Amino acid sequence: MSFAHHDQSLEVDQKMPRKIVIVGGGLSGLSAAECLVRLYGEKVQVTGLEARRSAGGRFGSFYDPRVDVTLDYCQHVTMGCCVNFIDLLDRCGLRKYWVISSSLAFSHASTGITVTKPWRWLPAPFHQLPLLWRMPFLSMAERYMVQRGMFRLMRHVKIADEDISAATWLKVHGQSNQVIENFWDVFSFSALGESTREISVDALKHLFVVGFAGNHRSADIWVPTKPLSEIFGVQLVNHLQRAGVRMIRGCSVRSVHRDENGYRINCNAGELHTCDHVISAVPWHQIQRIICEIPELAYLGKVKSLPSSEITGVHLWFDRSLGDFDQLITVGTVAQWIFRPTWTAHESDSNDCVSSSKRGYYYQVVISGSQKWKSMDHTTLINQLKHEIRQVSPQARDATLLSYRVVTDPRATIICNHQNERLRPEAGTPLPSLHLAGDWTATGWPSTMEGAVISGQKAVANLAAQENWTKPEPISTAPLGSLSRRIIR
Ligand SMILES: Cc1cc2nc3c(=O)[nH]c(=O)nc-3n(C[C@H](O)[C@H](O)[C@H](O)COP(=O)(O)OP(=O)(O)OC[C@H]3O[C@@H](n4cnc5c(N)ncnc54)[C@H](O)[C@@H]3O)c2cc1C
Repeated sequence: MSFAHHDQSLEVDQKMPRKIVIVGGGLSGLSAAECLVRLYGEKVQVTGLEARRSAGGRFGSFYDPRVDVTLDYCQHVTMGCCVNFIDLLDRCGLRKYWVISSSLAFSHASTGITVTKPWRWLPAPFHQLPLLWRMPFLSMAERYMVQRGMFRLMRHVKIADEDISAATWLKVHGQSNQVIENFWDVFSFSALGESTREISVDALKHLFVVGFAGNHRSADIWVPTKPLSEIFGVQLVNHLQRAGVRMIRGCSVRSVHRDENGYRINCNAGELHTCDHVISAVPWHQIQRIICEIPELAYLGKVKSLPSSEITGVHLWFDRSLGDFDQLITVGTVAQWIFRPTWTAHESDSNDCVSSSKRGYYYQVVISGSQKWKSMDHTTLINQLKHEIRQVSPQARDATLLSYRVVTDPRATIICNHQNERLRPEAGTPLPSLHLAGDWTATGWPSTMEGAVISGQKAVANLAAQENWTKPEPISTAPLGSLSRRIIR
């Protein structure tokens, strides 16, 4: 009798939508929500809890009343190889807010600006030869050295527990300090937020092989044409809400508890949410605070101290245009990228953003690994950047800086080194129905927007496996061209 009763309740239970709470409304949480409602529709009732007043997390925007504009904390870009991020944009109708460029502009004090564009008529990976051949600030011998290093990297096979830095590996493979600084570090800082001294060989290989050598489009640079708060905080959230996700902002989760009926989530305003599954999508340094009373998750205490890297965005307004570029990678300077965010370039688009004629010409300098310059006060930093900009742009020599703002995120990304890789946890936890997402979890990717999207998908795959639901499609990888497939090991 009791057996029959049990069966009946199970049947009823299975027809009920599963209540899922996602803690954290950054990209990983939003990706998990999108994946859940798209794949499992009626079977799920999804609630997103975000501590801030708007979703988006680390890549949000802020309103600067001094110039009356909305600005991203820091310029974000992505690459053509970030296929899961791009698929998410496509599914949610957000691709239209991005411009794609296949050329890269480099500047160096001694040689000015050089623009490189891949040769699409050559098969990948040889389409990237201009990147190696057209760097005037490298001597011919150095360019040849880079080519050799690149080839060795493509053939490098991961050694289990390989614990040397990318810089050490590069030196072993014949790269001089000068070439490491003027070539390898330039890319490593721009894409991975740190120098080759800090990152693993695997991360370097991932960047150059998946990012640059994989296929004709993998190194394309995608730049947003609207503030990120508009693209993700408004447009993506609207899309999710239309699909049935309940998004509660301004709701900071204090603690997550487990009992025989599922999970209880306590929020700062005294609000209590109960659910069948929890997806935690908060950053590595905040997770322990909310799950501290669950002994099975004590192992997550270690991730709190994952070494991370600082990124600084310096917002600058000049009285004139600094030249005909939208983005510039600067070599041998404190600045690493100079962007002219595209939505500021046209006065007709100026309703929610800066207008070039009224408030000056807006540029943003990005400095990754900026902890290195911590001892520099803002005035010295700004003077240094003005000097560097004047060296590469003739128009800047007579330009006046009207206003500036320095925004630093001290824990922007976790460092992609061997030690960190070992600490990055999988989506599944020892507790049933509690899943982890976040760019810091084990995604196989550096801590990037692509990594965050993948982490949300992996958390949902883990949840679906526990519920015995149809498996989601496997995580996509950027395809390799046929020649790249043969060369890359
Ligand atoms: C300055 C900077 C520049 C970057 N540039 C790039 C780039 O160019 N390209 C790129 O691909 N990536 C870049 N990144 C990395 C990228 O922004 C991150 O990888 C990505 O946004 C991480 O998303 P996430 O959801 O994992 O984490 P987060 O964005 O940190 O989201 C976590 C969310 O959880 C919320 N939260 C925390 N605690 C609680 C709580 N108790 N209750 C409720 N909510 C909570 C937070 O408010 C936050 O919204 C950059 C990052 C920074 C900081």
